[in-house]
Amino acid sequence: MSPENMSGAVVHVALFPNAGMGHLTPFLRLAALLVNRHCRVTLITPQPTVSMAESKLLSRFHSAFPQVTFLPFHIVPIDASTVNTDDPFFIQFEAVRRSCHLLPSLLASVSPPLSAFVCDVTLISPVLPITENLCLPIFILFTSSALMLSLFSYIPRFIPSISGLDFLEIPEVSTIPRSSIPPLLLLPNNVFAQILFEDGPKLPKLCGILVNSFEALESKALDSLNTGKVVKELAPVFPIGPLVPCEFEKNETEEQSSSSPLKWLNDQSPGSVVYVSFGSRLSLAREQVREIGNGLLKTGFKFLWVVKDKKVDKEEEEGLDEVVGTELMERLKSKGLIVKEWVDQSGILSHNAVGGFVSHCGWNSVVEAAWHGVPILGWPQIGDQKLNAEVVEKSGWGTWKKKWGWWGENVVRGEEIGDAIDEMMKNEALKVKAEEMKVAARKAVGGGGSSEIAVQRLIGEWTKMV
Ligand code: UDP
Ligand code: UDP
Repeated sequence: MSPENMSGAVVHVALFPNAGMGHLTPFLRLAALLVNRHCRVTLITPQPTVSMAESKLLSRFHSAFPQVTFLPFHIVPIDASTVNTDDPFFIQFEAVRRSCHLLPSLLASVSPPLSAFVCDVTLISPVLPITENLCLPIFILFTSSALMLSLFSYIPRFIPSISGLDFLEIPEVSTIPRSSIPPLLLLPNNVFAQILFEDGPKLPKLCGILVNSFEALESKALDSLNTGKVVKELAPVFPIGPLVPCEFEKNETEEQSSSSPLKWLNDQSPGSVVYVSFGSRLSLAREQVREIGNGLLKTGFKFLWVVKDKKVDKEEEEGLDEVVGTELMERLKSKGLIVKEWVDQSGILSHNAVGGFVSHCGWNSVVEAAWHGVPILGWPQIGDQKLNAEVVEKSGWGTWKKKWGWWGENVVRGEEIGDAIDEMMKNEALKVKAEEMKVAARKAVGGGGSSEIAVQRLIGEWTKMV
């Protein structure tokens, strides 16, 4: 049965993600969830995408969900010199923002009428006047932790003095030391800070905020956000996570290839492998990459290591021998599998051979590790990642090394990396907690679970808005 109101109109939701797999993936998982609840979904897709991974995922989603309407949103190219960043994903954030004047004509063709509009957190300011004008309820899908949402909603009041902050005390949530505040927020002229500071004060104007988190993982932050302790009159926060990995994300051809990481994992014993990945958009310095290699030589554990050399996959040119070094590669080969390609992370984390995850703590990776009950050794690099690592450590299923610092601050030596991996892999308490987190994650989205109830409430509200 489709959710519909008394006059028989169905719920129809538009989803509008911004750049990067860390934003697109949770939006597509949300789309799948809504389709499974018989909602109509229109997906507004910024074109061209920054990475190949994004366009491939969109095309797989399109084949799996032909009933979803795709509205390509052709971005007006911008002069990159007018944006204070060299990061291609941030440049795209800004280009999508500046192209939003094209949205009203695009939406004019949408039928049946929309019940709600869910946009990316980086699109609040440009989208808000448009949805207000159309009397269309506006929501965001927040693609990071509830802790980061607390910081995002609370920090704008400190703008004049932000570069001098020693710590940030978020009422009833947490005290964040300066060293964990996303570094770009302390340099307020860059585009990332400008977007957050412009959009943060507008959070109370939204009809709701969807977060890919759940009660058992972040109860304190979620409760404080929803009881007005962080910001009075904040829009209601709907914890609907974990947004569960879906079939359409898998690439069947790659899985069938003989070099597939999943095939290699099949030959390893349970809990014996550490999985090492820094997500979809980080490139580490060559020296740091080689130290990770040295660390993996030192651990007593096998490993599956995903190497990335460039921020954007389209620019990857050099092979593993060049990035890791021929001699080191030779020594590493007998101990583990090293790949330099997109992998099926959910498939890997769900494999029983994997006993731990060295992660940059991008929020999707954290939530996926929770879903599969895998302990984390966090190595946060940029942005919200130290906050996310803190969420993991506080709930007891992972740790992180504060003194390793941000991306580019230090070169962490192999010896230390190897020791930290051994510590994590041998820590039985982390395994027990990770298993508890897995059970809690599944309970949250199951019948009567906290996230399931939040989804029902949300769809119920949208039904009234039809
Ligand atoms: N991912 C993947 N294979 C890869 C690299 C990344 O499936 O080779 C997925 C990962 O599972 C997650 C997303 O890409 O869903 C990355 O998002 P996250 O928030 O963890 O980090 P980001 O890449 O945005 O820094
Ligand atoms: N940076 C980089 N490569 C990376 C990650 C970051 O060159 O893989 C640079 C980035 O361009 C910026 C600086 O490191 O100049 C700080 O990163 P950043 O903190 O982006 O990110 P954020 O706070 O948004 O996540």
